[in-house]
Amino acid sequence: PEPGSLMLEVDKVVKRFGGLVAVNEVDFTVRTGEIVALIGPNGAGKSTMFNLISGVLSPTEGRVRFLGQDITSYGPRRIASLGLSRTFQHVKLRPTMSLIDNVMLGAYRRTSSGFLAGALRLNQAEERRARHEAMRQLRRCGLGDNPHELAGNLALGQQRILEIARALAADPALLLLDEPAAGLRRLEKKALADLLRSLRGEGVTILLVEHDMEFVMDLVDRIVVMEFGSKLTEGLPADVRADKRVQDAYLGG
Ligand code: ADP
Ligand code: MG
Repeated sequence: PEPGSLMLEVDKVVKRFGGLVAVNEVDFTVRTGEIVALIGPNGAGKSTMFNLISGVLSPTEGRVRFLGQDITSYGPRRIASLGLSRTFQHVKLRPTMSLIDNVMLGAYRRTSSGFLAGALRLNQAEERRARHEAMRQLRRCGLGDNPHELAGNLALGQQRILEIARALAADPALLLLDEPAAGLRRLEKKALADLLRSLRGEGVTILLVEHDMEFVMDLVDRIVVMEFGSKLTEGLPADVRADKRVQDAYLGG
């Protein structure tokens, strides 16, 4: 897609869980080449929004469009196959598998069904191609030195980066990252921010959820703020930080 073109459109999306309105008529867009942050206090509806975009949940009302296609009723695999990859708030790596095998699990999405069962049915040529691709993603993310190390032996910051490498193995146009910086040390956050900047430079569009406003401030192009399921505001990082309503939401949250 052309830089600046519409990649993702979230259009008046509502999600109710019984009587609870987790997401309430939220609108926003992500353009090709941007890094956009979705921020807000705990319980604001950020992870639910990611689940709605990636097809893990279906909206109660509203539409989601990706690359011009209405994906509102699509399931996660179909959405992934269109070029949208995500990570989850809680690390979903396989700790007793090697770095490269973890990344290969992401690449299978491209070669076959997207599941390990499919992976086991790969022929040798496909397996070699997937391994080569996984190695390429590890290097791209600065994890190429010890591909046979077990994922569980990595520090948390590197595990988060490994999850990104795995998501990249599916060759996404749009990467959704749910709280990638949560619990990281200062230097780990810096390494993560550097990686995300370099990915943007390579043309990957990124939407990330973040609780920590400082992490996104120097990194992202735009911030969308949610509170109690609704969009509170959106804008440039400096404007959002200066917004009294945003400060109050954070102090209250
Ligand atoms: P955030 O990621 O911003 O912290 P969430 O999207 O996880 O917020 O949650 C938003 C609200 O929706 C919370 O009140 C949460 O308890 C509720 N919620 C999230 N998922 C479910 C679910 N599957 N069933 C019922 N309530 C849910
Ligand atoms: Mg969350």
